[in-house]
Amino acid sequence: MQRFGSLIVVSGPSGVGKSTLIKRVREELPDLRFSVSCTTREPRAGEEHGRDYYFLEEAEFVRKLERGEFLEHAQVFRHRYGTLRSEVVDRVRRGEQVILDIDVQGARQIREAAAHDPLIAAAVQFVIIAPPDPATLEARLRGRNSETAEQLQLRLDGALRELGFFRLYDYLVVNGDLDAAATELTAVFRAARLRTANITGELFA
Ligand code: ADP
Ligand code: 5GP
Repeated sequence: MQRFGSLIVVSGPSGVGKSTLIKRVREELPDLRFSVSCTTREPRAGEEHGRDYYFLEEAEFVRKLERGEFLEHAQVFRHRYGTLRSEVVDRVRRGEQVILDIDVQGARQIREAAAHDPLIAAAVQFVIIAPPDPATLEARLRGRNSETAEQLQLRLDGALRELGFFRLYDYLVVNGDLDAAATELTAVFRAARLRTANITGELFA
């Protein structure tokens, strides 16, 4: 049986635990391919260029944008973020499972791309990560300690608005207990490998 891969968009407000959960899923499923995004923000402690993000200057980001290299891109708070087509399309075509960690504006653009691109349409599934309650989200953002007070308030305000769009997603994972949430998110990835939509030929061919 021949199948192409899948594209799992993991979205949700900043600070909800997306990168922490994705790290856990990748430990469980080491053959997953993480789509490394471009960003114009500064690296945080421990982040590596090419592994966590491609950290670009504004001019370089704009050059890539003008060349049409992004599958989606967005301004998130004060910085630009974008998913390179090269991180996604050929890998899905080759049968790999690709994860995107992107904000809700990006998820919306991938949904629009799927309307014009049969490969993406067949491959994509959308997951939203939510906190168990707003206070928990605030505590996590504070705990990460990577935002100024002004940025923190911006992120919190945006978060509740974004979560209101949960019905646009295929799956909701509530990130309360980390182990339980990581198990649930891993289940989504495992199930995506069994979908009929990405089988390209006959069953016994
Ligand atoms: P995001 O990628 O969505 O912006 P992070 O993965 O950076 O969020 O998580 C934000 C903060 O919350 C980090 O300090 C992380 O260690 C913490 N965190 C994530 N998930 C949990 C959880 N289930 N329980 C407690 N703390 C968590
Ligand atoms: P952070 O700066 O905390 O790493 O990320 C801020 C937000 O940007 C998060 O919600 C993250 O999911 C989102 N993000 C990261 N990469 C991309 C991307 O390539 N495109 C979009 N649209 N959002 C992204």
